[in-house]
Amino acid sequence: MSELRPAPWITRDSSFFWEAAKRCELVAQRCTGCGKLRQPPRPMCPFCNSVEREEQVLSGKGTVYTWVMPRYPAIPGFEDGRIVVVIDLAEGIRMVSNLCDIAYEDVTREMCVEVFFEEAQDGFKIPLFRPASV
Ligand code: ZN
Repeated sequence: MSELRPAPWITRDSSFFWEAAKRCELVAQRCTGCGKLRQPPRPMCPFCNSVEREEQVLSGKGTVYTWVMPRYPAIPGFEDGRIVVVIDLAEGIRMVSNLCDIAYEDVTREMCVEVFFEEAQDGFKIPLFRPASV
């Protein structure tokens, strides 16, 4: 049994993301100026420079864009052998996460994946991805 991952580093811009993850919801910032989603969370819209934003709940569905298996050095608090993946989310934004429940050799580009949430330290949950159930 591996120990829990460290709690995420919380900023004023990212706290909504981690609070939603505690509720097992994957969310992103939506600019209320131009309506575009932005990920990762940031203080200003890169499209229209608005600082106004709201939170949007995402489907948690996506496809694999690219992936890699870091081998060295191992990061303290993280289980070795995790697949680091870039996901094209259904809503049109990308997210970096881990891909679980699959062997590295079996990962394919554009394979369908879905989010799930793993317990972390201090009551946080981390959004991770696995092959879609259907
Ligand atoms: Zn905008």
